[in-house]
Amino acid sequence: MKLFHYTSYKEFNTFEELYKSNAYAVCNLLKKFSVNVHTIGEYKELLEQYPKLPVIEDIDKDLFGCYVLKETNDAKDTISGIIINDELCSQLKLTTNDKLAAIAHEIGHIMFFFLKNKQTDEEFKADEFACQMGLSVELFGLLEKLQKSDIYNKHTTRLLELRLKAIKKYRHYFNA
Ligand SMILES: [Zn+2]
Repeated sequence: MKLFHYTSYKEFNTFEELYKSNAYAVCNLLKKFSVNVHTIGEYKELLEQYPKLPVIEDIDKDLFGCYVLKETNDAKDTISGIIINDELCSQLKLTTNDKLAAIAHEIGHIMFFFLKNKQTDEEFKADEFACQMGLSVELFGLLEKLQKSDIYNKHTTRLLELRLKAIKKYRHYFNA
């Protein structure tokens, strides 16, 4: 997982420094390709240049988003990226730890893409991967903050509650 920086957002550097080896320990396929990181503006510009880049629906409404495109059976040909909604992040006053947790969750989605057994719901599995990377405390804090904000509808707020419960269980179970 080499992060390819379109954006100079420092949290991506911090994540790479502190959590890259943890991420590899959870999913060693990540070693084979790079993850582009962009702001929404950069992502939209790239979409115009590279029409085959996956389009993320409603990217403006979400804090973070990610895409994965696998063109061959070889993992090294994977095109993947994480997008940060910098405007929404500052509106919600997200801290560095919040953002690190969100990056881990998005990388969790990329890991999910490669899972053979996809029985667990993707959101919960991405959270679990973030916990396995060592960010359970940070992720709990982030989701709690989102749950208390009033930017989400009833359905999403309920899902956040369930995700918080699952993280609590994880932390209890693994003493994390
Ligand atoms: Zn997610």
